[in-house]
Amino acid sequence: MSIDDLPPLRDVIRRHELSARKSLGQNFLLDLNLTARIARSSGPLDGAEVVEIGPGPGGLTRALLALGADRVIAVEKDRRAIAALAEVGEHYPGRLTVIEGDALETDLASHLSGRPVRIVANLPYNVATVLLTGWLTAEPWPSWWRSLTLMFQKEVAERIVAQPGTGAYGRLGVLAGWRTEAKILFDVAPSAFVPPPKVTSSVVHLVPRAEPEPCRIRSLEQVTQAAFGQRRKMLRQSLKSLFRDPVAALEAAGIEPTRRAEEIDVAGFAALARELLSERSAATG
Ligand code: SAM
Repeated sequence: MSIDDLPPLRDVIRRHELSARKSLGQNFLLDLNLTARIARSSGPLDGAEVVEIGPGPGGLTRALLALGADRVIAVEKDRRAIAALAEVGEHYPGRLTVIEGDALETDLASHLSGRPVRIVANLPYNVATVLLTGWLTAEPWPSWWRSLTLMFQKEVAERIVAQPGTGAYGRLGVLAGWRTEAKILFDVAPSAFVPPPKVTSSVVHLVPRAEPEPCRIRSLEQVTQAAFGQRRKMLRQSLKSLFRDPVAALEAAGIEPTRRAEEIDVAGFAALARELLSERSAATG
């Protein structure tokens, strides 16, 4: 059974000549059962305001609207998709706003009502981590969004949810773990997409923490960059570029100086970020 009585996505793609373009990271989902599963997994949609990045022919957009989203604000860079999305908008009057443009440059604030929004997207892989990093570093915190439900390449998804002591743990995992609780919901096989990508994908769900470990983003980024930039080295060595006395800073943060980046949890990195800030503040005095 179809979730709406709009034409099948294959017809939409044919009529609007939406042959997939690699340069735009286009791998479309045509199975409305799968798009409904993704939409449902983002949380209760009744009355929700949703931001979608890259709606393309509109498979996920249709699922979000059919499942009760009050409003969907969708940002799409490909002009060819705009007419297809207009048909979806006509089917759900007043509930779909399509912004034609680059999500990296679009200021969403003026389009939002001020209620916390859910961000749901099958992201173009070429800008996926840049977009995620932007949402994770939002200020002020708690963020303007209440959840992120996003499709990534599985390898990226594993880095987002990675825990200390694993090879996938790095800067992205620290940032995501600092500000959110992140988990992989399910994998999606290449065959679910048109055209199929080379690798498996995963849907990740991130919910903001109300009170992340206190520290400045900039300092956290500096310490994780230095630490993971030389991940095989002991921290007393890799942090030499940042701290006047890395051993003293590590001890003040409660971390053994012989540890390596991979072994340090988010609380440890936040403590180091606070040490860095206080050293820099003392220096500028
Ligand atoms: N949501 C559709 C689906 O699930 O079938 C399409 C997903 S496809 C992986 C990524 C979409 O993002 C494409 O429609 C592409 O045109 C769009 N896109 C690529 N780069 C973009 C950008 N910088 N800003 C906004 N949309 C972008």
